[in-house]
Amino acid sequence: MAARNQGHPSTSWYAQTANPFPDLTSLKGDHRTEVCIIGAGYTGLGAALRLAEQGVPTIVLEEAQVGSGASGRNGGQIHTGQRRDQNWLEQAVGPDDAMALWSLAQDAKAHLHDLITHHAIACDLKPGMIHARHRSQGADQDLAWRDHMAERYGYGQIRLIEKDALADELGTDVYFGGTVDEGGGHLHPLNFALGLGQAALKTGAQIFERSRALSWRKTARGMEVTTQEGTVICQRLILTGDGYIDGLSSQIDARVMPINNFILATAPLGDLADEIIRSDAAVADSRFVINYFRKSSDGRLLFGGGENYWPWFPSDISGFVQRHMLRVYPRLAAVPITHAWGGTLGITMTRAPYVKALAPGVVAAAGYSGQGVMLAPYFGRLLAEASLGEMSGLDLLSRLPTPPFPGGKLLRWPALVAGLSWYALRDRL
Ligand SMILES: Cc1cc2nc3c(=O)[nH]c(=O)nc-3n(C[C@H](O)[C@H](O)[C@H](O)COP(=O)(O)OP(=O)(O)OC[C@H]3O[C@@H](n4cnc5c(N)ncnc54)[C@H](O)[C@@H]3O)c2cc1C
Repeated sequence: MAARNQGHPSTSWYAQTANPFPDLTSLKGDHRTEVCIIGAGYTGLGAALRLAEQGVPTIVLEEAQVGSGASGRNGGQIHTGQRRDQNWLEQAVGPDDAMALWSLAQDAKAHLHDLITHHAIACDLKPGMIHARHRSQGADQDLAWRDHMAERYGYGQIRLIEKDALADELGTDVYFGGTVDEGGGHLHPLNFALGLGQAALKTGAQIFERSRALSWRKTARGMEVTTQEGTVICQRLILTGDGYIDGLSSQIDARVMPINNFILATAPLGDLADEIIRSDAAVADSRFVINYFRKSSDGRLLFGGGENYWPWFPSDISGFVQRHMLRVYPRLAAVPITHAWGGTLGITMTRAPYVKALAPGVVAAAGYSGQGVMLAPYFGRLLAEASLGEMSGLDLLSRLPTPPFPGGKLLRWPALVAGLSWYALRDRL
């Protein structure tokens, strides 16, 4: 078992194909600024960019490197909507908030596309997101979902795909049908994060790498954030950090739990690439521990599958994920695996993200599960706006139910591991 690594994993295909990015210095000495942001993933960078656009002096503190958390390691899949579907949201927060949350998610998707276009971020953005059913049951739910989204939310980009057509599209017959969402897609997640970082820097934000925020406290001069070698005095504080944040807020620690998920890259598939995911969409299946896959810009299969719930990674990530890949693509048994890596993400009890004003002048967002590519940059922007006094987005999101894990920070692990392991086991039944 290997410890979670810090910085860009050298084994990641993303790190090996990253666009150039400056090496940023660490924080040394005493600094003053208006807003301090902890964490340089999509959330923190989205917030920094918005603040810099408004001319607000902003410092970002990043423990490792820009995009070296989940934002630079993930599957790159762009899912439509909130993490929980509209049916769940209607029950949890009522029809009006559910509608507002849908509009917000659509704004987040438009924002993602605007960021990429406006800042000319080279991140291999491609359309199409396929959801594949791993059980024969469920076709009626797919149909009901498509109709509900079209009729109630006016979203007409979902179509059904039958078993045979899906087998032809994916180059595997293990699935029973599913849906295609033309409004979803995929991208190179690290290059998107680095592009967002470049945009924030160019617009005037200061970002310090290798600068872990150790603590923060309120003082007469404002909030004081301490790192190993420096301090930042700020008037407002934005806590991001998702699965990597630990020990900076008991409220976050009680509600957001880190879990690990893993990805491999095969060698380029050559002629096989034409038979696997013909439309070049992203794919996610219906398992509780989701298999998700897509092709890279150079014709590899990037396959995500398998997770664990403790503070270390398996020592053989490649073998760990390959088992999942071969269940979907037995024909790839002889294709070499060239890269394998893991990342940590935050989940909440309800899988709805935790977005809150924690104290006067302190806001936070974390716990997106596997939906942060589209949501997190926009949630960062909303945190920035909340710091400037525009609270409507944050207020709406903070009405999502995100109770503490039973047992709080210390005892949450055993309950979670037991619970998640049970659901993971059900995938295999
Ligand atoms: C393997 C994997 C696959 C995934 N696949 C998908 C997918 O296909 N689609 C999707 O939508 N989502 C996916 N996700 C989830 C998505 O990546 C996250 O939701 C998103 O990146 C969260 O962004 P963030 O900025 O909040 O957190 P992160 O990107 O994790 O950034 C947090 C940053 O904060 C820093 N930090 C933490 N504590 C401190 C501190 N005390 N001081 C300074 N810095 C600190 C960390 O070093 C890190 O860089 C996946 C995640 C993983 C791990």
